[in-house]
Amino acid sequence: MGKITGFMEYQRLQEAAEAPQKRIKHHKEFVQALPDEQAKIQSARCMDCGIPFCSNGCPVNNIIPDFNDLVYKQDWKSALQVLHSTNNFPEFTGRICPAPCEAACTLTINEDPVGIKSIEHAIIDKGWEMGWVVPQPPAQKTGKTVAVVGSGPAGLAAAQQLARAGHEVTVFEKNDRIGGLLRYGIPDFKMEKHHIDRRVAQMQGEGVRFKTGVFVGESLPEQGIANLAITTVMPQTLLQEFDAVLLAGGAEVPRDLPVPGRHLQGVHYAMEFLPLQNRVNAGDTLKAQILATQKNVLVIGGGDTGSDCVGTSNRQGARQVVQIELMSQPPEHENTPLVWPYWPLKLRTSSSHEEGVGRDWAVSTKAFVDDGKGRVKAVQCARIEWVKTRSPVR
Ligand SMILES: Cc1cc2nc3c(=O)[nH]c(=O)nc-3n(C[C@H](O)[C@H](O)[C@H](O)COP(=O)(O)OP(=O)(O)OC[C@H]3O[C@@H](n4cnc5c(N)ncnc54)[C@H](O)[C@@H]3O)c2cc1C
Ligand code: SF4
Repeated sequence: MGKITGFMEYQRLQEAAEAPQKRIKHHKEFVQALPDEQAKIQSARCMDCGIPFCSNGCPVNNIIPDFNDLVYKQDWKSALQVLHSTNNFPEFTGRICPAPCEAACTLTINEDPVGIKSIEHAIIDKGWEMGWVVPQPPAQKTGKTVAVVGSGPAGLAAAQQLARAGHEVTVFEKNDRIGGLLRYGIPDFKMEKHHIDRRVAQMQGEGVRFKTGVFVGESLPEQGIANLAITTVMPQTLLQEFDAVLLAGGAEVPRDLPVPGRHLQGVHYAMEFLPLQNRVNAGDTLKAQILATQKNVLVIGGGDTGSDCVGTSNRQGARQVVQIELMSQPPEHENTPLVWPYWPLKLRTSSSHEEGVGRDWAVSTKAFVDDGKGRVKAVQCARIEWVKTRSPVR
């Protein structure tokens, strides 16, 4: 524990961010990692409470009190080692993780939590800046081969661990670039894509081979507007050629909204819309792009993907953006004694919301209305009320 009284002396620090009206003029990241001195103060707020609820709250069980202590002592290299011991890609999580660790922080009971995610962000950015993140090839090879299907964060982390254990790893990805939803779902303004390229280079240095534009399966799914040249490899071939095959294909099927008018032009899945902007940012020339420019945009779904559509629409110059949600508006503050250390239900306002959006809750979409030419011109909705009922006793 860095400083015994730190949590009583210091307030939580927020990372600096470009003002909403400025940042919507571009698609780049707008949040800056904490400078060293601020990260030190932030980590001094960790009271090393004994039972690290934060580590349990973290999906990869980051050893948070230990790296907080090391950052307080400004031993950044050791902090990086501790962080990497549980987390292959802290530059991804330090930017885009929803930080359930902070909901589980003991300070959350009666204070603002330690800014764990911002400390993680500062550690890994420092690590890259100092040239400490380098390939770690295995000392010995096992002679075993593994095929990893899918290059999202799951496939990449598995591939890195397998390669470091000495196996010959090949990652197969049907898209033209590595990264899964990190590359073609999450907007650049939340995470720029050079972070993925840097990791891919590190993994190549560890012996991982990457094959893009290769679909593993029998029938190639619809590829949308991108229209990529893709090779197909039968699963049986992989089973014959590799000692093991790891499937990390993600969850690619969107949830439809089967109401009248769903077929109309202008009604899109988020994942038809978002990847195209990422491609344009990457320098691709598209045959067509779904653009929100000068449009009235309705985002159906109040979660993070919806929020990314809000942020992207504003950057494209939408006339107005409205986001509706089926569930009721959650309370502004959670009932901490009831829910801590779990992830609480509460109103969340994302950086994209700060940039401009009208939000409404408890709204059900009944139909999309045709403008007479096959395009959507309006949406019929109903205000709903959620009522709890007892399930019948059987
Ligand atoms: C718009 C959006 C925003 C998000 N924002 C966040 C966020 O801010 N924070 C957060 O924590 N999470 C976020 N998520 C969720 C997060 O991106 C996913 O949980 C994560 O990417 C899942 O990783 P994965 O490796 O399992 O799958 P994916 O990232 O989906 O990767 C799977 C990869 O496998 C490939 N593939 C699939 N089948 C085959 C096949 N047969 N042959 C070859 N390749 C194949 C796909 O092309 C894809 O590249 C977001 C998701 C979306 C859609
Ligand atoms: S920000 Fe996410 S990955 Fe990082 S410590 Fe918290 S829960 Fe774990």
